[in-house]
Amino acid sequence: MATKHTLALTDALYPYYREVSVRESPLLQRLREETSRLPEAVMQIAPEQGQFMALVASLMNAKRVIEVGTFTGYSALCVAEALPDDGILVACDIDRDWTAIAERYWEEAGVAQRIDLRLAPALETLAELLAYDQAGTYDLAFIDADKTQYQDYYERLLELLRPGGLVMVDNVLWGGSVIDPDKTDESTEAIRAFNRALHADERVDISLVPIGDGLTLARKR
Ligand code: CA
Repeated sequence: MATKHTLALTDALYPYYREVSVRESPLLQRLREETSRLPEAVMQIAPEQGQFMALVASLMNAKRVIEVGTFTGYSALCVAEALPDDGILVACDIDRDWTAIAERYWEEAGVAQRIDLRLAPALETLAELLAYDQAGTYDLAFIDADKTQYQDYYERLLELLRPGGLVMVDNVLWGGSVIDPDKTDESTEAIRAFNRALHADERVDISLVPIGDGLTLARKR
């Protein structure tokens, strides 16, 4: 059967999708359960997305990674587990409580030594990395933080990535709000503007993967 567009994952189909694809470790499951009890639980990525990002990292043989927006550390844990022993993931967040949860699980998973947590506004951390001559040295980046600063994060990360490096951008479909004319809040407008700009950006090759809330992959040329 031919499909003209990407198949919608209905409520009936989605459990099957997870059942035959997701291989979540008991530790990741526990982290997801603990995070689901937080008021901000909606910020957590889906397990299929964490698994996808880990696969991307291993396909690229990624060794140096930056994440903007760590929350309770699920995505960082998925990706860190896919890195070699001497790999490094710079995790940027501003929240001490969320990242304290993250650190507990990273420790338990035995990947804590691969994760360099920076508790500071991410733009400051990225500027610091650039000041320390790290432009062009990263393989992979993930943006999943305040939407109004996506464009700024993206610009800094593009400098930090090597040619052929990849940035993954989360929430680009924003629960469908991107096409709702009644949604004119700052975050929605920022995501719309970001998506348009990225579509026209000739510095990268792109693909919007409709996993989770929409994940755009942009590969630096
Ligand atoms: Ca997100």
